Amino acid sequence: LNGIVGFHNLPNQVHRKSVKKGFHFTIMIVGESGLGKSTLINTLFNAPIAPTRDGNAAKDQQDSASKTVEINSFTSDIEENGVKLKLTVIDTPGFGDFINNTEAHKPILKSIEERYENYLDQESRVNRKNMTDNRVHACIYFIAPTGHSLKQLDVQFMKELGPKVNLIPVIAKSDVLTEAEVTGFKERILQDIKANNIQIYYPAVHENDDPETVQEIKEIISRIPFAIVGSNQTFEHPPGSKNHIRGRKYPWGLIEIDNEAHCDFVKLRQMLIRSHMEELKEHTTQILYESHRSLKLEGAGV
Ligand code: GDP
Ligand code: MG
Repeated sequence: LNGIVGFHNLPNQVHRKSVKKGFHFTIMIVGESGLGKSTLINTLFNAPIAPTRDGNAAKDQQDSASKTVEINSFTSDIEENGVKLKLTVIDTPGFGDFINNTEAHKPILKSIEERYENYLDQESRVNRKNMTDNRVHACIYFIAPTGHSLKQLDVQFMKELGPKVNLIPVIAKSDVLTEAEVTGFKERILQDIKANNIQIYYPAVHENDDPETVQEIKEIISRIPFAIVGSNQTFEHPPGSKNHIRGRKYPWGLIEIDNEAHCDFVKLRQMLIRSHMEELKEHTTQILYESHRSLKLEGAGV
């Protein structure tokens, strides 16, 4: 069961009509280059979906040479136990990589709003068959593992984008910090989030959730911001055995990606793919898009 990503239970997350239409999920990744964005996508979906620095060095260099934040989108069709998922990943190379980053969030905000506009246009057409939905359902924001607190760049991005998209903050490359450092860093990040009125995504507990579900959601919430480790390498564990696990190897031992005692990767995947993928989509359409739409209509005097 190790290789299973977990979207095969999507039919249980949604109404039956979506099963026929197929599943489509759009995820955006933002953070300074080299923080492991591409690696995390590949680790999450257990497939070489995004080109990483290790795998595609030439392309990455070209990325950091440009002077603006790029918006690169690519789509993969993946299948698990007969369930198909069309996954669109929007990468944002260049973010935070310049000397002056005060405008870094703008092209990303613009892209998210354009996607809402595009949907709004389609909704107002007479013929609404074959609507394409390119709205962003989740934005994973990578915080550099400084161990201090949020940077101005982080605060600005999260403050501006929080009301527009399901924002999921993660501590990148958390294997470079000790357990105590991660704990302290998380506390300070949460304080900064509160102090700056930043809106992030929290899975909601519903009235009719059974106690087990409520417990799972509470455990997910307790890990936010998720301290993650990504890797696409596997190691024999224990050495010499037939058992292969994903991890990062250090002289003092192996960091196991799929071990909840080592990092929060499992909880992030649980929320994003296994239990809340559909809720992220619903929250996008019913709350975030709706609020964009009514602001727009008010502005137009409708
Ligand atoms: P991106 O520029 O944010 O897309 O970063 P990449 O995914 O290309 O990764 C950049 C480098 O960081 C590569 O050498 C990865 O192997 C390494 N890396 C990725 N994730 C982690 C992690 O969780 N911990 C550590 N220590 N290194 C990582
Ligand atoms: Mg990358």
